[in-house]
Amino acid sequence: MNITSVDIYRYDLPLSPPFTHASSGTVTHLKEVYVKLSTNTGIVGWSEVRGNCEYVTGDTPERVVAVLQHIVAPYLLGKDPLQRNAINRDLDRLILGNSAAKAAIDIALLDLAGRHYETPAAQLLGGIVQSSFASDATIAFGTVEQAKQEASNYLQAGFRVLKVRVGPDRALDLKRVTAAKEVIEQFGLSQDVLFCVDANQGWSVKEAALRIAQYKPLGVEWIEQPVPADHIAGLKTLKHMSSIPIVADESCKSVADVARIAAEDAADIVHLKIVKAGSIAKLQQMMGIADAFHLPVMLGQMDEGRLATAALLHAAAASSAKHFEVWGFQRVKAEDDPVSALVVENGRVHLPAGPGLGVEVDEHRLCNVASLS
Ligand SMILES: [Mg+2]
Repeated sequence: MNITSVDIYRYDLPLSPPFTHASSGTVTHLKEVYVKLSTNTGIVGWSEVRGNCEYVTGDTPERVVAVLQHIVAPYLLGKDPLQRNAINRDLDRLILGNSAAKAAIDIALLDLAGRHYETPAAQLLGGIVQSSFASDATIAFGTVEQAKQEASNYLQAGFRVLKVRVGPDRALDLKRVTAAKEVIEQFGLSQDVLFCVDANQGWSVKEAALRIAQYKPLGVEWIEQPVPADHIAGLKTLKHMSSIPIVADESCKSVADVARIAAEDAADIVHLKIVKAGSIAKLQQMMGIADAFHLPVMLGQMDEGRLATAALLHAAAASSAKHFEVWGFQRVKAEDDPVSALVVENGRVHLPAGPGLGVEVDEHRLCNVASLS
């Protein structure tokens, strides 16, 4: 079997409602890049990655498309799509960084292999350890009233991990975090809900220390990415002075990043995502390092559509991770997503059944921006 064509597509998924956090600004659309790999056997593989990751990986939809079109696709034509390891190795030699473009290929190869072997992608990653995932739900920047309303909606929908986005406005954040906690108490769920905040790189070490003092009495159970991604020394200082666990998210953008954080004992939990890692293979390497250092793992996403989410669900299914952020696709109405629905019940997202990633793409709704054969 060999790859006979590479099609690259763009599609903007409208968010309803949009979200804002400390490093993203206001995001109104997930600007997705989709890839279809076709073969001489008629079997195809699909992928989706978030294009507008400017604030985490530096990726833009235009950059992802350009790298795929001009560097990756010409290399892929004629290759055996079942050789994921060799292809991933070669892509790392062809171009540095560009994790989203590389992830798009790894995901499509895995989907294609699953369809070829008529088995779920997770089976090709070593087998299905778990098949439904209790996800967190996040409360975006907004008013105190909005924080209350969103917390209430999520708890009613069955979510039991709530994360409040916090940022530069210390006084407003304290009111929003307090309001969300009060809603949890009103529901009688204080013992059942994991209550967290995510600062998305927004603070200095001293600001973080001040917030820890504010949030500890409110029962906040972890603080995600308090300081800028490259401030590993700051992360480590906080990890050792804070009674609230510290999560590293934006700081974990490569296997080497995770190795450094683990070796330096600079975080309590690492939050890993395919689009940062560059492939599911590298995500698994990151998880291996974390395991070796007894470092709990959260598997998450950038808020992406249903196909990208399905890829993460398969990686999660093949793992023993216990924490998940696979909720973001629900900000996109099902009818606005060109990919088939995912099942969510009581705050748990289910692994899609069927070969490959287990989802179908309505190709005719996508905008084809490049086709190489
Ligand atoms: Mg985060």
